[in-house]
Amino acid sequence: MKTNRSVIVQCRLSSTRLPGKALKDLCGKPVLAYVLEAMYKVKADHYFVATDKDSYEQLLPVCKEYGFECFAGSLDDVLGRFVSLLDTIKTKTVIRATADNPFLFYEAAEESAALFEEKNNGKSHCDYLTYSGLPHGSGVEVFSAESLKKATSETTDPYDHEHVGPAFYNHKDRYVCEFIPAPRRYNYPELRTTIDTYSDYLRAVSILSYMRNHDYEGPYTTEQIIEACKANSVKFPLVMVPSVVKGHGTGHLRRCLSAAQQGGFFVYIPDDKTLAETDSIVKEYIEAGLSANQIINTIPDETYLPAIITDTFELTENQLKELSKNRSLISIDEGSRYTDYCDYLLDIIPSYKCDRPANKCDSGFIEMPENVRTDSDDDDKKKIEKVLICLGGEDPANLTMPAAQAFRKRFPDAKITAIISHEDNPYVDYAGGTNIEFIKPVAGLREKLYEYDIVVTHYGLTAFEAVYAGCGVILLPTTKLHKKLAEKYNFACVGESSISDSSLQTALASENLYAKKLLSGEKKSLGEFLRHLSAGKRLSCPVCGKLPSQPDEVISRNESRTYRRCSTCGMVYMAFTTIEDKKYQKAYFFEEYKKQYGKTYEEDFDSIKAQGMRRAGIIKALSGAGGPGGEKTLLDIGCAYGPFLAAASESSFNPFGTDISDDAVAYVQKKLKYPAVCSAFPEIDTAEEFGIAQFDVVTMWYVIEHFKDLGRVLRKVSTLVKKGGTFAFSTPSGEGISAVSDKDHFYEISPSDHYTIWEPSRADTILRIFGFKVEKIVSTGHHPERFPSIKKSGAEKSSLKWNLVDAYSHARGLGDTVEIYCRKI
Ligand SMILES: [Zn+2]
Repeated sequence: MKTNRSVIVQCRLSSTRLPGKALKDLCGKPVLAYVLEAMYKVKADHYFVATDKDSYEQLLPVCKEYGFECFAGSLDDVLGRFVSLLDTIKTKTVIRATADNPFLFYEAAEESAALFEEKNNGKSHCDYLTYSGLPHGSGVEVFSAESLKKATSETTDPYDHEHVGPAFYNHKDRYVCEFIPAPRRYNYPELRTTIDTYSDYLRAVSILSYMRNHDYEGPYTTEQIIEACKANSVKFPLVMVPSVVKGHGTGHLRRCLSAAQQGGFFVYIPDDKTLAETDSIVKEYIEAGLSANQIINTIPDETYLPAIITDTFELTENQLKELSKNRSLISIDEGSRYTDYCDYLLDIIPSYKCDRPANKCDSGFIEMPENVRTDSDDDDKKKIEKVLICLGGEDPANLTMPAAQAFRKRFPDAKITAIISHEDNPYVDYAGGTNIEFIKPVAGLREKLYEYDIVVTHYGLTAFEAVYAGCGVILLPTTKLHKKLAEKYNFACVGESSISDSSLQTALASENLYAKKLLSGEKKSLGEFLRHLSAGKRLSCPVCGKLPSQPDEVISRNESRTYRRCSTCGMVYMAFTTIEDKKYQKAYFFEEYKKQYGKTYEEDFDSIKAQGMRRAGIIKALSGAGGPGGEKTLLDIGCAYGPFLAAASESSFNPFGTDISDDAVAYVQKKLKYPAVCSAFPEIDTAEEFGIAQFDVVTMWYVIEHFKDLGRVLRKVSTLVKKGGTFAFSTPSGEGISAVSDKDHFYEISPSDHYTIWEPSRADTILRIFGFKVEKIVSTGHHPERFPSIKKSGAEKSSLKWNLVDAYSHARGLGDTVEIYCRKI
């Protein structure tokens, strides 16, 4: 049946930003193929690709394959090109798409064309129509062929001629143009699907990796495209940066390619790589299912910021600085002195530099072989018939031949296999007629290790894999570092640089020859873990709000977070977190609170109120406030269910409350009958809400640590406190006994929504920035049982020792929480 419609896909190969992008390979097909596939789903009489004469020949085969005709016209006068094409056919409605949009919503295209026709079939008239609100790159334009011819004849503006739509919508006085808000199903203006830049292209690769992993086949439906765009693997792209430098071995590259294959990540391989085996190893993984599009030689720019994962042995300060710019930098087994640049450190192969803290140390991420030796600890195992010498594909210290000869001497009947990566085997002359065999690097060596009785290698992945496979393992120290590592991790080891018969004998006799004890825990997927890290967020100092040019000093690292000290203001802050933001709703008070304190917030009301009476007393003493007739105003920010408002009221203050939990605010208003508003601080306008612009006292009890934008909050507090008035708050102390005695544990158990950790000794410096002067610091939360001396001696509560420690804790301000009272100056 005739539709009187034509689909025209506009295409040229001379794009400046991404030349030839329409034919660029995108996971096995050219970009254009996805466009044509989708547009072919739209009902029409004619399907055309409109291009220029230079591109015609190259595009023709793709057009034919997908049922499109190819029309060649002017390169720059796109409008003219459309008109010449329309002169060759008879059609009423044109549906125009462009060749850089592989994720077009064909359902929306069909609907908008139908809507356009409906308008023109009725009483109304429409020249041009498009849905607005679609992802950038998923929409089409619909217009009348006749109107386009008219519009073309009426404009000489070069801009109009270079494009199509503007000939209509830049002349709305003459043409009826409709921008229809797209139905909910298609309305995702925040998403981007077009391919304009290299980064866009990588996003498209991520989308298609997602489609492939979910067995979705094109042309893709709207829902599939939206689902992919919202997937973490698309939203949080990740680029692995392996070492491809000669001398570092091939383990880093293999580990990255393997993780990339598991997690759909990109792998950055620069053109100036020096590791000779790079291409053959990459090919091996591509044959095993990695997409060639996942290998990149440019790191995407800020339009598609990926997290960077380095696995490069030791980076320079400049490299770390460059890689950490504007995005998360996660480093595996990084040996550099400049690891403060890294948001996250993951140590997989226990490193010599284990003393430098890592966020996570776990050898369970080593991909262990499936094939392991089944023989047990009987004597047969000690029989040595097959020896593998494998110095990581490279052999910088030239130890392969001496090792082979030493083994031949000691085990004349054993078969000795040595892996040599050099193109020209320098040893071939020596080997002739002996029991030594030289082979090229082996694909999938990990699964072949179990065939050998002894594996000779240096400290690295292969050593761990061979131990796991049940082989005897002897390490040759190729560098001083390797020697130290071999010793540190109790490998059997030939410790000298020359391999003598006696040193070999010592190694063979070592009780560490079968070093099973090195292996820990369950197997884990590195790809999955890195995917989890890629959604992690880097945060800047909440007080200063900007990222410093040099990284701030790292204070503590743990599995889910990294803490730093701001070099500008001195605040300790959460600088990287993999934990999602919390919402403070009813659940916080009724579940979280109970989890933490063993009773509900309401059940605890009276004891919190009692604390409040004490605090109100301190404020009174400091400010001389209160008393009948002299009621002073007090604003409690984060008032929750109001225990402090009740205490303040009983202490002759005139209390006001604000909280982000509407439930809590309703309780304060209805049950306690104090004025309170539900509002997120610092967005509240107290002049409007309470008729009060400035208060005598502003308080925050265990609230201040929750602000991600503390600088803004303190500036607002400063405007809310009258000159000479009081600002008081309580918070966990970064100088209490828990923080002092076991810093890393303190930060590890610090709640995931505490963005700043206050150290009483630095509070005055920070508060002065906002016009406050610290008047009094009260150390609270004293826990003698957390002191090492009580832990060790097990002294009973109320014993002399206990009481002494308690007194000491008070005297030295070692409480785990602190109250800070300051005056507005
Ligand atoms: Zn700061």
